[in-house]
Amino acid sequence: MAKILDGNALSTTIKNEIKAEIGQNHLQVGLAVVLVGQDPASQIYVKHKKKDCEECGVMSYEHVLPEDTSTEELLSLIDRLNADSKINGILIQQPLPGQIDLTAANERINPLKDVDAFRADNVGRITIGDYRLPSCTPAGVMEILRREGISVAGKNCVVVGRSNIVGKPMAMLLLHEHGTVTICHSRTADLAEICRRADILVAAIGKPNFITGDFVKKGAVVIDVGINRDVNHKLCGDVNFAEAEPLADYITPVPGGVGPMTRAMLMKNTLTAKKLQDS
Ligand code: NDP
Repeated sequence: MAKILDGNALSTTIKNEIKAEIGQNHLQVGLAVVLVGQDPASQIYVKHKKKDCEECGVMSYEHVLPEDTSTEELLSLIDRLNADSKINGILIQQPLPGQIDLTAANERINPLKDVDAFRADNVGRITIGDYRLPSCTPAGVMEILRREGISVAGKNCVVVGRSNIVGKPMAMLLLHEHGTVTICHSRTADLAEICRRADILVAAIGKPNFITGDFVKKGAVVIDVGINRDVNHKLCGDVNFAEAEPLADYITPVPGGVGPMTRAMLMKNTLTAKKLQDS
């Protein structure tokens, strides 16, 4: 039976560490979260982020813009947030309505306030091993591995998914920890066979229960990034937990695995951003 990697417990520890650091140093730290439109999932994520801020002693500033907001209107809000010294981090909740130029919005954020590493230069920094503001989800996965004492060096690591915010930076962080990394995607041939070679398997696909037992090597570490709804509308990951868990040595659940760690890393990056801006 696998050890369940409890992201809720670990994220609470990290948030307590952040709260202590903010309190001990009497820091004023602020995060702005921008929501455009009424996407129900995004509204829940924003609510969670507000709660995380409260738990860490970070001031949260929520900006809700109407669905028909133009790129120019969003850019003008970003300019105001960039200029506001109370704001140390800016997060534009995705997905954005189709009329908005996402790249323009991300690139407008002050690089030192880009707390989820959406800007091209911050993505590039991750590639060269500069982790001043790493992407939150991959950073959360690495934190789980580190704090569980799971070594990456020399391991076969397979990342399924190559998005700019999860798959690619995830692969880079594993590579920098000396994993032998394979990145898979929708055109990969023999996906199950490649995944079965993984000592550390990270699924970031966005397809409910896609990774079945057939993809999992005995004794593997299985990290499930996916957040999906199954046919019964129940929250589930990309990994078929019931099939993978008996094979794995370690596995993250959904919910309660990578999700809360991503949020904890957002708080950590916001604190780091504050320190970078003050230095
Ligand atoms: P994207 O849709 O941007 O990327 C999905 C990736 O999966 C793509 O690279 C795609 O390949 C690949 N893929 C799709 N179908 C297959 C397939 N049949 N076989 C192999 N690869 C496939 O998603 P994200 O990276 O943004 O998110 C992935 C999942 O993680 C989602 O469920 C999302 O909700 C979740 N998520 C969770 C977070 C958390 O905190 N836990 C944070 C962010 C995301 P290709 O490039 O060829 O199209």
